This record gives sequence, C-alpha cells and structure tokens, in this order.
Amino acid sequence: MKVIASHNGLAAVERAWELLQSGTPPLAAVVAGITLVEDDPEEHSVGYGGIPNEAGIVELDAAVMDGRTLRGAGVAALRNVRHPARVAMRLMEQTNRVLLVGEGALAFARANGFAEENLLTDKARRIWLHWKRIRSELDDWRTPAADSVDPDVAAWFEKHFGGPAGHAKVGTVHVAACDDAGNIACSTSTSGHAFKLPGRVGDSPILGAGLFADNGAGSCGSLGHGEANLLNCSSFAVVEMLRAGRTPAEAGLEMLRRIADRTPRDQCDAAGRPRFNLWLYILTPDGREAGVTMWGPKEFLVADSAGIRRQACQPLFENRPS
Ligand code: ASP
Repeated sequence: MKVIASHNGLAAVERAWELLQSGTPPLAAVVAGITLVEDDPEEHSVGYGGIPNEAGIVELDAAVMDGRTLRGAGVAALRNVRHPARVAMRLMEQTNRVLLVGEGALAFARANGFAEENLLTDKARRIWLHWKRIRSELDDWRTPAADSVDPDVAAWFEKHFGGPAGHAKVGTVHVAACDDAGNIACSTSTSGHAFKLPGRVGDSPILGAGLFADNGAGSCGSLGHGEANLLNCSSFAVVEMLRAGRTPAEAGLEMLRRIADRTPRDQCDAAGRPRFNLWLYILTPDGREAGVTMWGPKEFLVADSAGIRRQACQPLFENRPS
C-alpha cells in the first residue's frame, strides 16, 4: 500500500494515505487528496487561485485513471469549477466518454451540481495584471516602477521567472496510489501554464500523456512542459517500459532521455539539454516508486507503512541548461 505525489501534494498525500488505510479504493483516495490542493488559494498552479490565461480567466485541466478497470476520463479548459478532478471522475463513472472540454465540460459539471464561482483570486489577478504591464513596450500598458510593485507579486515573479531557466510558468499536482491487492490509480490536476493562450490544453487531462494507470504494469504522471508529454505520449510509454521489465527509475530516465533526444534544438542549450523541465512520478502495483526530473534538484512525496516523507527525484542531467 503506497501513495506518491508531486512536491506540492503534501495535503493530498496525507488525506489519500489516511483513506487508503481505512479501505477507500485507490482512485477515490487520490481524488479526495487532490481536492484539497485544488481548494488551496496559495497553490497557484492548481484549482482555485490558479494563475489565469492570457485573457485573465482561469481554465483548469484534470484527469483520473483507474488501473483496475482501465477506465479514465479528463476535462479540459474548464472554467468556474474548482474541482476538475472530481468532475473527471464523474465523467468516468456516469458516461462512456473520455474527454470533455470548455462549455461542454462546464455543462456536465453544472448538471452534476458542482458550484460555479470566479476562480481568480485577488492575488492571482494582481500577478496577471503585472505580467500584462511588463511584457511589452508595444502595447498600451506602462511598465510599473520597480519600487511600486506589490511584494507578493514581486515574490511570485522572482520565484517563477527569476530562477533557473525553465522554471517559469509551470506547476500541477499529480497523486498515485496502490493498495495491498495491487490496485493502482492516479490523478493529475492543473491550471496549466501561466498566461497560456485561451483554450490551450496541456498534457494533464490527456490519458497517456499527463497520466496513465494499469494494474498490469504500473502508473505514471507528470508535471512540467506538457507539450513534451503530448508529443511523446510519455505516461503511456513509461507504463509500457514497466511492463517490459524496467524498474520505475529506469523507465522514467529512459523516457526523459527519449524526450531530450527528440526536443527541437531551439528548445535546448548547446549541450542538448532541454530548457524546459519535466518530472515523471512512477508507481508499480507492488509498491515500488520513483520520481525523475529532466534536470535540477526536486523532491516528491511518498507515504507507506514507514511514514510520509520527501524523496529526491533522480535527474537525467546533473546540471541545469545554460
Ligand atoms: N504540465 C502542465 C501543463 O502543461 C503544467 C505544469 O505541470 O507545469 O499544462
């Protein structure tokens, strides 16, 4: 029995682990955990409080997959509903459809009684407005004087754009769990890349790209540059590598190597390292796990009978791209 999650999923892991121990099936446990992250206004990459798209509107993507039944579903570009993973779970339970987007996803959520609200918090709005003001000299917005910038906003930009290349704009939560009978399930939820084009859909709601689960092999989910997972069907490919006998870490690192080799040169540094980052979280039905990262230090979360702890992700490249 085990739960794993991306670095930002502590509340989710605690909840999912507690539920799993009391006999809740892995998928329900994982989604209950993800719901807590979607509720957190300070987690600006997921659910309520997510950073909006280019037009200032929060659009959410999420999916669930159950490795026991091999069923799953996703919702994409969903507005005004803070729990997209729960909407995706309903879609899986109530229909034979696998993906709903935009207005259709919202209508489905509405039909299921999900509350509608403005997901844009005041802080996320101020971050977006600052981005509009600084991004170009060619538009109507004047760049604010450095000493007039709100400290909360300045801190967010420093964290996401002031650090190493590739850290900008990203964030998502992924959680996976397996029980003692070898049933495995996972979910991924995100507000996607900050300031994305309206209607842009990333990897998170797409089965096989942002997540995949199969009791016969294992599960994989991802954070980071979603387009790389969409182009490489990363989560599905990792699960197939597990099926072929690779360990979780071998499968994850082999996938990152394949992605790096296939990344267009204009997205890489001179040494061939992608400037974007990508993280894969892998779990097997017998409870072996790994977190891997394209580059740079990062941790992921693990909960099992030994407790809840942070473990280091294994990097493909020791050094960050230049
Ligand atoms: N993978 C997500 C997306 O591309 C975002 C992220 O994890 O940073 O939408």
